[in-house]
Amino acid sequence: MSSTNNQPDNREDSRERQFTQAAHDPIDLRHHGAIHVPIYQNSLFAFDTYEAFEQAFQSLMHNHVYSRGNNPTVEFLEKKLAELEGAEGAKCFASGMAAISSSILSVVQQGDHVICVDQAYGPTREFFSVYLTRFGIETTFIDGSSIDHWREAIRPNTKLFYLESPTTMLFELQNLQACAELAKSFGARTIIDSTWATPCFQNPLALGIDLVVHSITKYIGGHSDCVGGVILGSQELVDHIGYNEYMLLGGIMTPQTAALISKGLRTLPLRMQRHEESGLVVANHVSTLPFVHHVNHPGLPSHPQYELGRSQMSGYSSLFSFVTREPLKKMKQWADNLQLFKIGVSWGGFESLVTVNPRSRENDEACIVRLYVGLENPADLTADLERAWASLA
Ligand SMILES: *Cc1c(COP(=O)(O)O)cnc(C)c1O
Repeated sequence: MSSTNNQPDNREDSRERQFTQAAHDPIDLRHHGAIHVPIYQNSLFAFDTYEAFEQAFQSLMHNHVYSRGNNPTVEFLEKKLAELEGAEGAKCFASGMAAISSSILSVVQQGDHVICVDQAYGPTREFFSVYLTRFGIETTFIDGSSIDHWREAIRPNTKLFYLESPTTMLFELQNLQACAELAKSFGARTIIDSTWATPCFQNPLALGIDLVVHSITKYIGGHSDCVGGVILGSQELVDHIGYNEYMLLGGIMTPQTAALISKGLRTLPLRMQRHEESGLVVANHVSTLPFVHHVNHPGLPSHPQYELGRSQMSGYSSLFSFVTREPLKKMKQWADNLQLFKIGVSWGGFESLVTVNPRSRENDEACIVRLYVGLENPADLTADLERAWASLA
């Protein structure tokens, strides 16, 4: 599948453009030309006249009336994220899950059916399989790698395709353009969790997807200091979410958090360039280690969907996994011996991380190790992986 925005030359152009988008703001005299947007630490905005007050009320999402609606510090981050993603609109939330649950609730109603990739983020799956079933919304989980699987799961009441590409344990992809076209053909909406790729390496809206969600907690914040999320899409869909799920469920991002994340965003393209390079160095090295059966990284030609990845992503981030030849217990001892890779959930910050996961409940003969490659020297990281193994012997 080809897409016009991802051809190799445009790819370089768009990467370079993102450096300017992240680093540059027009001079804003409303803030006295402050080089970085100030933190508007206030809940409400007051008005001189009742007329101005009433006029602002006409558009709560685009004027400043109340911070559970539109706060200038949060709005600044939303505009920058929209620019980087190539979206008309963006709304920032208290967490990735607040953005995900709100985006889903903006689409489904009682009696609807959803198709979701079976490797989606755990709490997202739980939201579909446990929470939404209480409201009569049913979900079919599928292996999303073939468009036929999506087509076969469609029911008369299917209203949503929920994608996550790549997934973040096995790093499986879905064909974004094909999924968007199929969903459009019968009036269903598409949402994708694009956290792994970030706005730097994948722009699903250009491939026809309706709404993109990111956990900002990961690469976008980038410093392991904040939790946040964002929904991006057309102004119409994002405004609709603003007036409904954002205002009514109230899972808003605070101005303090928005300021910290905006600071992280300045270096997003720079960090992603480094993460991509280091991630590939470490993944290639891991492929050669004796305890590794195979590596799951979309940027390695051995990945079964390598060509699809190349056609719809312009780069690769630095979270990947490998299936081991050794049992879970031994790999946990290996993880204990690591010095640079810390044991911990989440990813996207400056620091390298490791988790050791059972492959299935019944079988602990082999397991799946997930590595997150941070900003350290990749040679130090590969040495750490080897040293930890050697000291087990
Ligand atoms: C972390 C994560 C989320 C949830 O984000 P929070 O900010 O923790 O709520 C959703 N999707 C993916 C792929 C994630 O890694």
